[in-house]
Amino acid sequence: MKTLELHCLGTAGYHPNESRHTSCYFVPECGLVLDAGTGIFRLPNLIQTDHLNILLSHAHLDHIVGLTFLLDILYQRPVQDVCIWGQREKLASIREHLFHPDIFPVELPVTWKSIDENDTWQLQDASFSWRPQDHPGGSVAYKIELPDGSDSSTRLLYATDTLGAEDDVTLDWMSDVDLLMHECNFDDKNQSWAEKTGHCYLDKVVRIAKRTTPKQLLLTHINPIAELELSDACRDLPCGVQIAHDGTCVSL
Ligand SMILES: [Zn+2]
Ligand SMILES: [Zn+2]
Repeated sequence: MKTLELHCLGTAGYHPNESRHTSCYFVPECGLVLDAGTGIFRLPNLIQTDHLNILLSHAHLDHIVGLTFLLDILYQRPVQDVCIWGQREKLASIREHLFHPDIFPVELPVTWKSIDENDTWQLQDASFSWRPQDHPGGSVAYKIELPDGSDSSTRLLYATDTLGAEDDVTLDWMSDVDLLMHECNFDDKNQSWAEKTGHCYLDKVVRIAKRTTPKQLLLTHINPIAELELSDACRDLPCGVQIAHDGTCVSL
């Protein structure tokens, strides 16, 4: 059984600060990229595969602006195939607006793949599924089961830019993964801001983790102007809990 690693390349929401770039996470063994914020510039030295699959949670700028960096990334470390996955309408908006010739002059050498047709799909022995989330304009959470060389697989759940789902069906789908990556843009003092902007606050993420029992919880999409701290409620969780930082590497 091989140990997979998740590299945190960008861990801020909204905009970068001195120590955090915007959302991007990478599992080099599988060529899997989660979101394409500014942190994606850190990709070239880590690439191990001849393909990359970039899964987009939605099309807000802090999750997509790094797609425009891909030409340099692929110049530094060429790969054969790059696929960008997301909801069809979001991909269309990105291509129409972010890659409008007035904004970015060159077409990307990538394949755009809509996830709308299938709730689940298989790719290079990995399986993927997604669910819609509450967030202005809509976003999706992904569950990814990665082959690790054993009979079972390593399960990863990526839920960012979400009000935080607490219904039974969603929590059941999210349950019992090896790593739950859940956004926590706000601390508990700022619950009303979280609700106003379609994001999560710490106590709600703790409630979700209690009901979904992951082996590890990684708090992501950190507010760049108010550094998050773990609360006592976090320390009472039965799983490992950590706040993602740029450069954090999690063994899965
Ligand atoms: Zn965001
Ligand atoms: Zn967003």
